[in-house]
Amino acid sequence: MTHLETIAIHAGHQPDPATGAVTPPIHLSTTYEREADGSYRAGLIYSRYDNPNRASLEQCLAALENGVGAAAFSSGSAATLAVLQALEPGAHVIAPDDAYFGTAKLLRDVFGKTLEASFVDMSDLGTVEAALRKNTKVVWVETPSNPLVRVSDIGAIAALARSRGAATVVDNTWATPVLQRPLELGASLSMHSTTKYLGGHSDILGGALITREDDELWQRIRMIQGAGGIVPSPFECWLAMRGIRTLPWRMRGHCENAAKVAHFLEAHRGIEAVHWPGLASHHAHHVAMRQMSAGGGMLSMQVVGGAAETLAMTGRLKLITRATSLGGTESLIEHRYSVEGAGSRAPENLLRMSVGLEHADDIIADLEQALG
Ligand SMILES: *Cc1c(COP(=O)(O)O)cnc(C)c1O
Repeated sequence: MTHLETIAIHAGHQPDPATGAVTPPIHLSTTYEREADGSYRAGLIYSRYDNPNRASLEQCLAALENGVGAAAFSSGSAATLAVLQALEPGAHVIAPDDAYFGTAKLLRDVFGKTLEASFVDMSDLGTVEAALRKNTKVVWVETPSNPLVRVSDIGAIAALARSRGAATVVDNTWATPVLQRPLELGASLSMHSTTKYLGGHSDILGGALITREDDELWQRIRMIQGAGGIVPSPFECWLAMRGIRTLPWRMRGHCENAAKVAHFLEAHRGIEAVHWPGLASHHAHHVAMRQMSAGGGMLSMQVVGGAAETLAMTGRLKLITRATSLGGTESLIEHRYSVEGAGSRAPENLLRMSVGLEHADDIIADLEQALG
């Protein structure tokens, strides 16, 4: 099993030994019977600690990114929470100044009194280096980022962090294991919101961490996952596994459609700017093409005009759905400035789009009629 398409279908996924069922059953039992001698038949005790569906998902996730282990969480944010909770009080974290809103919120509003945080422009290595302190324990990278789809150099940042004794954690949600492999580029941990592309159908909430080493940080994260019970339900693990089976093929479609949409938008006079890593005009196109196998399914556009013109344009859309989130089969569009409110770094004329798996011509036709 060396190819991702094969790993996505088979890793952690064997016919059920009890019945021969090819599609695995969902194990809802929270507790497991002890043998007469007090031992457990399969080592399973209680489902906060372990569950067969979660174990399968974790095995599959580790294989997808070539990690030595993976942990599944109740959401992407719960995965982030576990990493931050694992740090000693007083530790310093460097995070991107355009980090996912929820990541910045955790650092500021939940860990603000116990951890130090610096928010910097991660696309500039010099800025990251200048922000390093003696107590820096984690450099948090998110690439491509939200909502300007900016790209930072994982290999360079991971080498720098490692030389100063800090771990690099990459939020790989937007790129997925198909397009970008942070652990192979030197990162310590890869993080995912499986709510997005891995689940792939906008019907589960979940998160994951994949580790390069079974070290002390990983042991603490594992302990927090079980002790805190921040775990996904067996059904959500099962749905995540179902989504992952088609992930490599879905990502091909997302990337192919996004390329067509990006080129269409770039040539449209109603559009001021398009942000997509696959375009030669992207600020870090070269870095993106070195560390990603394709441009991804996420792009953002800046409409000619202000917030009013931008919102009016989305109001005319008929196929593309106005909604938050990303990574599902349907195309979604969102005015991030309205969502984030005061303090948002998103330009007022910016729309973020998750390019779905509809026919590219239909997506483009909808954008064309809405732009006028
Ligand atoms: C959605 C998202 C998260 C948070 O994941 P949840 O599952 O919503 O908690 C984190 N990072 C990125 C890049 C995301 O898109």
